[in-house]
Amino acid sequence: MTTTPPASAADGAAVKAADRAHVFHSWSAQGLIDPLPVAGAEGSYFWDYDGNRYLDFSSQLVNTNIGHQHPKVVAAIQEQAAKLCTIAPGFAVDVRSEAARLIAERTPGDLDKIFFTNGGAEAVENAVRMARLHTGRAKVLSTYRSYHGATAAAINLTGDPRRWPSDTASAGVVHFWGPFLYRSPFHAENEQQECERALAHLEETLAFEGPQSIAAIILETVPGTAGIMVPPPGYLAGVREICDRYGIVFILDEVMAGFGRTGEWFAADHFGVTPDLLTFAKGVNSGYVPLGGVAISAEIAATFDKRPYPGGLTYSGHPLACASAVATINAMAEERIVENAAEIGAKVIGPALREIAERHPSVGEVRGLGVFWALDLVRNKETREPLVPYNASGAANAPMAEFAAACKRGGLWPFVNMNRTHVVPACTVTEAEAKEGLAALDEALTVADAHTDAA
Ligand code: PLP
Repeated sequence: MTTTPPASAADGAAVKAADRAHVFHSWSAQGLIDPLPVAGAEGSYFWDYDGNRYLDFSSQLVNTNIGHQHPKVVAAIQEQAAKLCTIAPGFAVDVRSEAARLIAERTPGDLDKIFFTNGGAEAVENAVRMARLHTGRAKVLSTYRSYHGATAAAINLTGDPRRWPSDTASAGVVHFWGPFLYRSPFHAENEQQECERALAHLEETLAFEGPQSIAAIILETVPGTAGIMVPPPGYLAGVREICDRYGIVFILDEVMAGFGRTGEWFAADHFGVTPDLLTFAKGVNSGYVPLGGVAISAEIAATFDKRPYPGGLTYSGHPLACASAVATINAMAEERIVENAAEIGAKVIGPALREIAERHPSVGEVRGLGVFWALDLVRNKETREPLVPYNASGAANAPMAEFAAACKRGGLWPFVNMNRTHVVPACTVTEAEAKEGLAALDEALTVADAHTDAA
């Protein structure tokens, strides 16, 4: 069990000063940020040096599915460190083989070979490369309102504004619209219409791009960063059928949705769909040591039986990362952590969020499953105008910044993106913790309400 480390405000100030002197942060204007110095973490909480403890409703970047500092995972990393810290990918190692077996046993269908990477973006890069080599085709289709990572191919597949600065490298990527009934690109009125129109739109996109030129269609099974949009029944099965018809590789990106987040081991399990390639990272070991990978179908794996796969990473299948994955997956199974995510989502978080939405004029829609929920915040429930404009920054983003600050004052660390807040606690979250966080969220939403037309 982790204990709270001795911490003082002075220590925190020193940590922050060193950070600001030398650390270059992701996705940030370096001169405008004020990172919180973190002194420690355990389970669903982390704390700073000033005595403030936060209930982590973000799971960091939606990765600590098993919570912070799980003792079995910490012990497994320590034991592996004492035994063998590193070994090149070309050797057979017990923890690597075991991690691959445990993952392959849980992925859907015949996704029985595992290529390890150090994170999600590298998984996407390699899945796309495998698809291109397998089909001999170049183009890849991905959706708007998606996030696939920040490396070259992954950022260009990403369907949000983070892609724009590097858009010149996007040759070979075509974006299309996936289903999202609340803000329907197809003006649909119900899920069935949304599904039918989204599939027809995909068919039309293929007709104009040339299906014989498409290597892969990549989708997040449940798009995460872009808004936790659970696809309507039949959509993923429809995409599967289209891919089969044209010999297109179907890639499901489960970097965020996988490993228990949705209340199943993989989000694809909710829809009975097996892709040809499935990318994972984050929850595979809750990010205790960087790890990601691609689960590969028998057919695509066979492409590289006699012909070398031209890709690899020095740290592919790193022993410390694999040891933490083995311990994480075993603990998730032994402690019924995936079942907990399903139960807390269905019995506590979902019902509470729907009730909260009825009382707050700023909550336009609640959607999600498991411990994977989004609140779409709006200025006006009728028009559904987002609480802040798309991609707002500075003063235009003040309503969301004020809402996030109110959460933090209430001891809740929120996940906030554009006009949305996501409720994505650890899969281990208890009922009492979920209720504590929901009460703080309820309170903070009054700040968002003040920016609505109803105020
Ligand atoms: N794919 C999805 C669906 C993600 O959510 C993310 C990260 O949030 C990535 C890929 C990129 O993963 P990483 O940041 O580990 O490179």
